[in-house]
Amino acid sequence: MRLPAGAMLLVLGLVSVVVVAGCGDEPRAAAPSTVLTVPSQPTSTATTSSSITTSSAVPSTVAPTTIAPATTATAPSLPDPPDTTSAGASGTVESATSAGFVVVIDPGHNGGNGSASAEINRQVEAGGFRKACDTTGTATNGGYSESAFNWDVSNRLAGLLRAAGVQVVMTRDSDSGVGPCIDRRAGIGNLVSADVAVSVHADGSGAGNRGFHILVPGSLPGFTDDIAEPSRQYARILREELPAAGMPPSNYVGSDGIMVRTDLGGLNLSDVPKVFVESGNMRDPTDAALLTSPEFRQRWAERIAAATLRFLSGRRP
Ligand SMILES: [Zn+2]
Repeated sequence: MRLPAGAMLLVLGLVSVVVVAGCGDEPRAAAPSTVLTVPSQPTSTATTSSSITTSSAVPSTVAPTTIAPATTATAPSLPDPPDTTSAGASGTVESATSAGFVVVIDPGHNGGNGSASAEINRQVEAGGFRKACDTTGTATNGGYSESAFNWDVSNRLAGLLRAAGVQVVMTRDSDSGVGPCIDRRAGIGNLVSADVAVSVHADGSGAGNRGFHILVPGSLPGFTDDIAEPSRQYARILREELPAAGMPPSNYVGSDGIMVRTDLGGLNLSDVPKVFVESGNMRDPTDAALLTSPEFRQRWAERIAAATLRFLSGRRP
Protein backbone atom coordinates (compact mmCIF):
# COMPACT_ATOMS: atom_id res chain seq x y z
CA MET A 1 0.00 0.00 0.00
CA ARG A 2 2.68 2.43 0.84
CA LEU A 3 3.98 4.43 -2.00
CA PRO A 4 7.27 6.03 -2.62
CA ALA A 5 7.52 9.73 -2.11
CA GLY A 6 7.15 10.52 -5.74
CA ALA A 7 4.06 8.46 -6.09
CA MET A 8 2.74 10.11 -2.98
CA LEU A 9 2.63 13.40 -4.74
CA LEU A 10 0.48 11.89 -7.38
CA VAL A 11 -1.74 10.44 -4.76
CA LEU A 12 -2.07 13.75 -3.07
CA GLY A 13 -3.05 15.26 -6.34
CA LEU A 14 -5.75 12.69 -6.77
CA VAL A 15 -6.89 13.15 -3.26
CA SER A 16 -7.35 16.82 -3.69
CA VAL A 17 -9.59 16.16 -6.60
CA VAL A 18 -11.59 13.52 -4.87
CA VAL A 19 -11.94 15.30 -1.61
CA VAL A 20 -15.08 17.21 -1.41
CA ALA A 21 -15.95 19.61 1.26
CA GLY A 22 -15.71 19.55 4.96
CA CYS A 23 -12.74 18.51 6.74
CA GLY A 24 -14.76 15.60 7.82
CA ASP A 25 -15.35 16.01 11.32
CA GLU A 26 -12.73 14.01 12.46
CA PRO A 27 -9.64 14.13 11.08
CA ARG A 28 -7.68 11.30 12.00
CA ALA A 29 -7.02 8.08 10.56
CA ALA A 30 -5.98 4.98 11.95
CA ALA A 31 -3.13 3.12 11.12
CA PRO A 32 -3.68 -0.40 10.66
CA SER A 33 -0.69 -2.41 10.20
CA THR A 34 -0.11 -1.29 6.74
CA VAL A 35 1.06 1.99 7.81
CA LEU A 36 4.36 3.26 6.87
CA THR A 37 7.63 1.77 7.22
CA VAL A 38 8.51 3.92 10.06
CA PRO A 39 10.37 2.16 12.73
CA SER A 40 7.73 1.02 15.05
CA GLN A 41 9.48 1.25 18.25
CA PRO A 42 9.75 4.42 20.02
CA THR A 43 13.07 3.55 21.08
CA SER A 44 14.01 2.96 17.57
CA THR A 45 13.36 6.57 16.96
CA ALA A 46 16.87 6.89 17.95
CA THR A 47 17.69 5.93 14.49
CA THR A 48 16.34 9.12 13.22
CA SER A 49 19.33 11.02 14.15
CA SER A 50 18.71 14.70 14.14
CA SER A 51 15.09 14.67 14.97
CA ILE A 52 15.81 12.65 17.95
CA THR A 53 17.17 15.35 19.97
CA THR A 54 14.02 17.23 19.81
CA SER A 55 11.84 14.30 20.32
CA SER A 56 13.83 13.16 23.22
CA ALA A 57 12.20 15.95 25.05
CA VAL A 58 9.10 13.94 25.12
CA PRO A 59 8.82 11.37 27.75
CA SER A 60 10.20 8.35 26.17
CA THR A 61 7.67 6.54 28.13
CA VAL A 62 5.17 7.61 25.63
CA ALA A 63 6.54 4.76 23.96
CA PRO A 64 4.81 3.89 20.96
CA THR A 65 4.41 0.57 22.33
CA THR A 66 1.59 1.57 24.36
CA ILE A 67 0.18 3.86 21.91
CA ALA A 68 0.44 2.07 18.77
CA PRO A 69 -0.35 -1.33 17.85
CA ALA A 70 2.98 -2.49 16.93
CA THR A 71 3.28 -1.84 13.32
CA THR A 72 2.56 1.70 13.28
CA ALA A 73 5.12 4.05 14.05
CA THR A 74 3.17 7.08 13.70
CA ALA A 75 2.03 7.60 17.12
CA PRO A 76 4.99 7.43 19.16
CA SER A 77 6.63 9.56 16.93
CA LEU A 78 6.89 12.51 18.80
CA PRO A 79 9.54 13.55 16.70
CA ASP A 80 8.93 16.43 14.68
CA PRO A 81 11.01 18.24 12.38
CA PRO A 82 14.28 18.91 13.87
CA ASP A 83 14.35 22.34 12.48
CA THR A 84 11.23 23.28 14.25
CA THR A 85 13.17 24.48 17.13
CA SER A 86 15.02 27.02 15.19
CA ALA A 87 11.87 28.11 13.51
CA GLY A 88 10.26 28.56 16.80
CA ALA A 89 13.12 30.45 18.22
CA SER A 90 12.46 33.20 15.78
CA GLY A 91 8.86 33.37 16.81
CA THR A 92 7.31 36.00 18.95
CA VAL A 93 6.17 33.63 21.58
CA GLU A 94 7.63 34.30 24.93
CA SER A 95 9.29 31.40 26.52
CA ALA A 96 7.83 31.93 29.89
CA THR A 97 8.02 29.26 32.46
CA SER A 98 6.46 26.49 30.54
CA ALA A 99 8.88 23.80 31.43
CA GLY A 100 7.20 20.71 32.72
CA PHE A 101 4.09 21.04 30.63
CA VAL A 102 3.20 18.50 27.99
CA VAL A 103 1.21 19.48 24.91
CA VAL A 104 -0.09 17.06 22.31
CA ILE A 105 -0.34 18.46 18.81
CA ASP A 106 -2.56 16.52 16.46
CA PRO A 107 -2.13 17.39 12.78
CA GLY A 108 -5.49 16.36 11.33
CA HIS A 109 -5.74 13.63 8.70
CA ASN A 110 -2.66 12.28 6.91
CA GLY A 111 -1.36 12.51 3.36
CA GLY A 112 -1.78 8.82 2.70
CA ASN A 113 -5.38 8.54 3.85
CA GLY A 114 -6.75 9.03 0.37
CA SER A 115 -5.12 5.86 -0.85
CA ALA A 116 -6.15 3.74 2.11
CA SER A 117 -9.92 3.88 2.15
CA ALA A 118 -10.32 0.49 3.77
CA GLU A 119 -8.16 1.53 6.64
CA ILE A 120 -9.60 4.95 7.24
CA ASN A 121 -13.19 3.76 6.84
CA ARG A 122 -12.76 1.16 9.51
CA GLN A 123 -15.21 1.84 12.34
CA VAL A 124 -13.74 2.74 15.70
CA GLU A 125 -15.04 3.82 19.08
CA ALA A 126 -15.89 7.51 19.14
CA GLY A 127 -17.54 8.11 22.51
CA GLY A 128 -20.55 5.89 22.91
CA PHE A 129 -20.88 5.24 19.21
CA ARG A 130 -18.67 4.25 16.35
CA LYS A 131 -17.46 6.11 13.30
CA ALA A 132 -14.82 5.98 10.64
CA CYS A 133 -11.22 5.83 11.75
CA ASP A 134 -10.44 9.02 9.89
CA THR A 135 -11.15 11.00 6.74
CA THR A 136 -9.02 12.42 3.97
CA GLY A 137 -9.62 16.05 4.85
CA THR A 138 -10.24 18.79 2.34
CA ALA A 139 -8.03 20.89 0.02
CA THR A 140 -7.94 24.25 -1.72
CA ASN A 141 -9.23 24.46 -5.28
CA GLY A 142 -5.60 24.71 -6.27
CA GLY A 143 -4.82 21.33 -4.74
CA TYR A 144 -3.09 22.27 -1.50
CA SER A 145 -4.23 19.55 0.86
CA GLU A 146 -5.55 20.10 4.33
CA SER A 147 -3.28 17.39 5.69
CA ALA A 148 -0.25 19.26 4.34
CA PHE A 149 -1.49 22.49 5.90
CA ASN A 150 -2.14 20.76 9.21
CA TRP A 151 1.27 19.14 9.14
CA ASP A 152 3.11 22.37 8.40
CA VAL A 153 1.34 24.46 11.02
CA SER A 154 1.71 21.70 13.60
CA ASN A 155 5.44 21.51 13.10
CA ARG A 156 5.83 25.26 13.33
CA LEU A 157 3.75 25.17 16.50
CA ALA A 158 5.82 22.35 17.93
CA GLY A 159 8.99 24.34 17.39
CA LEU A 160 7.56 27.40 19.09
CA LEU A 161 6.32 25.47 22.10
CA ARG A 162 9.55 23.54 22.49
CA ALA A 163 11.47 26.77 22.37
CA ALA A 164 9.31 27.84 25.31
CA GLY A 165 10.27 24.74 27.26
CA VAL A 166 7.15 22.71 26.62
CA GLN A 167 7.36 19.00 25.91
CA VAL A 168 5.52 18.30 22.67
CA VAL A 169 4.09 15.03 21.46
CA MET A 170 2.81 14.74 17.90
CA THR A 171 0.19 12.19 16.88
CA ARG A 172 1.85 11.49 13.53
CA ASP A 173 5.38 11.85 12.27
CA SER A 174 4.98 12.54 8.58
CA ASP A 175 2.42 13.65 6.03
CA SER A 176 2.82 10.62 3.83
CA GLY A 177 1.32 7.97 6.04
CA VAL A 178 -2.13 6.79 7.07
CA GLY A 179 -3.89 7.63 10.29
CA PRO A 180 -3.75 7.18 13.16
CA CYS A 181 -7.46 6.69 13.88
CA ILE A 182 -9.39 9.22 15.88
CA ASP A 183 -9.53 7.03 18.95
CA ARG A 184 -5.81 6.67 19.01
CA ARG A 185 -5.22 10.37 18.42
CA ALA A 186 -7.22 11.05 21.56
CA GLY A 187 -5.56 8.15 23.33
CA ILE A 188 -2.11 9.61 22.84
CA GLY A 189 -3.03 12.73 24.80
CA ASN A 190 -4.39 10.55 27.57
CA LEU A 191 -1.38 8.31 27.56
CA VAL A 192 1.07 11.11 28.12
CA SER A 193 -1.27 12.93 30.49
CA ALA A 194 -1.03 16.02 28.37
CA ASP A 195 -1.85 19.34 29.97
CA VAL A 196 -3.71 20.25 26.81
CA ALA A 197 -4.13 18.92 23.28
CA VAL A 198 -4.81 20.80 20.07
CA SER A 199 -5.88 19.28 16.78
CA VAL A 200 -5.02 21.40 13.74
CA HIS A 201 -7.43 21.44 10.79
CA ALA A 202 -8.91 23.58 8.05
CA ASP A 203 -12.47 23.40 6.78
CA GLY A 204 -13.91 22.90 3.32
CA SER A 205 -17.10 24.89 2.77
CA GLY A 206 -18.59 27.11 0.09
CA ALA A 207 -16.85 30.17 -1.32
CA GLY A 208 -17.85 33.23 0.63
CA ASN A 209 -17.85 31.33 3.88
CA ARG A 210 -14.83 32.66 5.69
CA GLY A 211 -12.82 32.43 8.83
CA PHE A 212 -11.66 30.13 11.58
CA HIS A 213 -13.69 28.32 14.18
CA ILE A 214 -12.69 26.28 17.20
CA LEU A 215 -14.46 23.02 17.92
CA VAL A 216 -14.91 22.30 21.62
CA PRO A 217 -16.29 19.18 23.29
CA GLY A 218 -19.84 19.28 24.59
CA SER A 219 -20.30 17.79 28.05
CA LEU A 220 -20.98 14.08 27.62
CA PRO A 221 -21.38 12.26 30.94
CA GLY A 222 -18.68 9.71 31.36
CA PHE A 223 -16.68 11.12 28.49
CA THR A 224 -16.14 14.84 28.32
CA ASP A 225 -17.92 16.16 31.37
CA ASP A 226 -14.55 16.59 33.01
CA ILE A 227 -12.78 18.37 30.17
CA ALA A 228 -15.56 20.45 28.63
CA GLU A 229 -14.98 23.54 30.71
CA PRO A 230 -11.19 23.74 30.55
CA SER A 231 -11.42 23.04 26.83
CA ARG A 232 -13.72 26.04 26.46
CA GLN A 233 -11.33 28.18 28.42
CA TYR A 234 -8.60 27.22 26.00
CA ALA A 235 -10.93 27.95 23.07
CA ARG A 236 -11.76 31.39 24.39
CA ILE A 237 -8.09 32.25 24.66
CA LEU A 238 -7.49 30.97 21.15
CA ARG A 239 -10.33 33.12 19.86
CA GLU A 240 -8.68 36.15 21.39
CA GLU A 241 -5.28 35.38 19.92
CA LEU A 242 -6.02 34.02 16.44
CA PRO A 243 -7.48 37.09 14.69
CA ALA A 244 -4.12 38.85 15.02
CA ALA A 245 -2.76 36.43 12.43
CA GLY A 246 -5.11 37.91 9.84
CA MET A 247 -7.86 35.29 9.79
CA PRO A 248 -11.26 36.43 11.16
CA PRO A 249 -13.69 34.31 13.18
CA SER A 250 -16.07 32.26 11.05
CA ASN A 251 -18.98 34.02 9.39
CA TYR A 252 -20.76 30.75 8.60
CA VAL A 253 -20.55 28.31 11.49
CA GLY A 254 -20.43 28.34 15.26
CA SER A 255 -20.83 31.36 17.47
CA ASP A 256 -18.16 34.02 17.26
CA GLY A 257 -15.57 31.47 16.25
CA ILE A 258 -16.47 28.68 18.66
CA MET A 259 -18.66 25.64 18.03
CA VAL A 260 -19.62 22.87 20.46
CA ARG A 261 -19.50 19.32 19.09
CA THR A 262 -20.40 15.97 20.61
CA ASP A 263 -19.89 13.84 17.51
CA LEU A 264 -16.12 13.94 17.34
CA GLY A 265 -14.29 10.91 18.68
CA GLY A 266 -11.10 12.90 18.88
CA LEU A 267 -12.74 15.12 21.50
CA ASN A 268 -15.12 12.66 23.13
CA LEU A 269 -12.36 10.20 23.98
CA SER A 270 -9.98 12.79 25.35
CA ASP A 271 -9.33 12.90 29.07
CA VAL A 272 -7.31 16.07 28.74
CA PRO A 273 -8.51 19.53 27.66
CA LYS A 274 -8.68 19.52 23.88
CA VAL A 275 -9.99 21.53 20.93
CA PHE A 276 -9.87 21.38 17.16
CA VAL A 277 -8.74 24.55 15.42
CA GLU A 278 -10.48 24.78 12.04
CA SER A 279 -8.10 27.32 10.61
CA GLY A 280 -10.19 28.70 7.76
CA ASN A 281 -12.17 27.61 4.70
CA MET A 282 -9.85 26.12 2.10
CA ARG A 283 -12.57 26.47 -0.56
CA ASP A 284 -12.86 30.21 -0.16
CA PRO A 285 -10.40 32.18 -2.32
CA THR A 286 -9.58 34.74 0.35
CA ASP A 287 -9.04 32.18 3.07
CA ALA A 288 -7.15 29.91 0.69
CA ALA A 289 -4.74 32.71 -0.17
CA LEU A 290 -3.88 32.93 3.50
CA LEU A 291 -3.76 29.20 4.19
CA THR A 292 -1.37 28.57 1.30
CA SER A 293 0.99 31.29 2.51
CA PRO A 294 3.97 30.15 4.58
CA GLU A 295 4.02 33.58 6.23
CA PHE A 296 0.43 33.17 7.35
CA ARG A 297 1.10 29.66 8.59
CA GLN A 298 3.94 30.98 10.72
CA ARG A 299 1.74 33.72 12.17
CA TRP A 300 -1.00 31.15 12.75
CA ALA A 301 1.36 28.85 14.62
CA GLU A 302 2.60 31.80 16.67
CA ARG A 303 -0.92 32.76 17.72
CA ILE A 304 -1.80 29.17 18.64
CA ALA A 305 1.43 28.92 20.60
CA ALA A 306 0.73 32.20 22.40
CA ALA A 307 -2.77 31.03 23.33
CA THR A 308 -1.48 27.67 24.47
CA LEU A 309 1.16 29.21 26.71
CA ARG A 310 -1.47 31.55 28.18
CA PHE A 311 -3.72 28.58 28.89
CA LEU A 312 -0.88 26.65 30.49
CA SER A 313 0.18 29.56 32.65
CA GLY A 314 -3.32 29.65 34.07
CA ARG A 315 -3.11 26.00 35.05
CA ARG A 316 0.20 26.13 36.77
CA PRO A 317 -0.12 24.33 40.07
ZN1 LIG B 1 -9.87 18.34 8.97
